Amino acid sequence: MTEPRYVTGLVQSEVASDGAGVKLRRSIGTGHLSELDPFLLLDNFGTENPDDYIAGFPSHPHRGFETVTYMIDGQMRHKDSTGAEGVLGPGSVQWMTAGRGIVHSEMPEQKEGRMSGFQLWVNLPASDKMCDPRYQNIDPEDVPIVTLDKAVLHVLAGEVEGLDGPVAGPVTGVATDPIYLDITLSPGGSYTHAIPEGHTAFAYVFDGAVEIEGERVEKDHLAILSDGDSVTLQSAKGGRAILVAGRPLGEPVARYGPFVMNTYAEIQQAVHDFQSGNF
Ligand code: FE
Repeated sequence: MTEPRYVTGLVQSEVASDGAGVKLRRSIGTGHLSELDPFLLLDNFGTENPDDYIAGFPSHPHRGFETVTYMIDGQMRHKDSTGAEGVLGPGSVQWMTAGRGIVHSEMPEQKEGRMSGFQLWVNLPASDKMCDPRYQNIDPEDVPIVTLDKAVLHVLAGEVEGLDGPVAGPVTGVATDPIYLDITLSPGGSYTHAIPEGHTAFAYVFDGAVEIEGERVEKDHLAILSDGDSVTLQSAKGGRAILVAGRPLGEPVARYGPFVMNTYAEIQQAVHDFQSGNF
């Protein structure tokens, strides 16, 4: 590891509302930061107040990209147009490849208590946008937890060097070759992760604060990282962040709500297909 990545931009997440009125904090997919190729959207939800989440995300379509839900606290029931249904509980991950089209809902499976987690949208290359939809539903026990000195890592995607050798996350076969880690640092903790050169990478801090090459990243802030072959997160007083990386696609993005294609004509086709019941 010779070229450490540093912070090239800090973005404070914005309070937003989605679904039928779920309150969340959005950091990618805003007027401030419309995308971070291949990432199209990042939402962090985290609340004790049922009024902030009870309305959920009723039935809605997606085409042309992947939605990744990482539940930290609480339970959500998902249902979709392929007939699949299940409950996402604490620590579970759903990597949904919408491909040519899916209609789904995500509704809280609780009336009180804490609900927290992330939703990330990952773009698909043009060649995969119309693929068959597929799910990777990963139970909490299948997300490895690696405990190091003053660092605890949940490995959703990518590989971590554990004390007894490499530990691979359960998400596989994704076009953008992603890394997705949930990193908790104790006071004085530090963790270094290798990231392929050329991959887009960011860290989003959702508890405490972390430092990256001397730059302090506070809670509710996204740090855009430079190119390089590794990143080191440190925390003087303790902090928790997700570290996400993926291969940029470098393709045109045409975007309309839940449809993300390469051209406006493809968006019109998506709207037409959805309205005529062809999802
Ligand atoms: Fe959705």
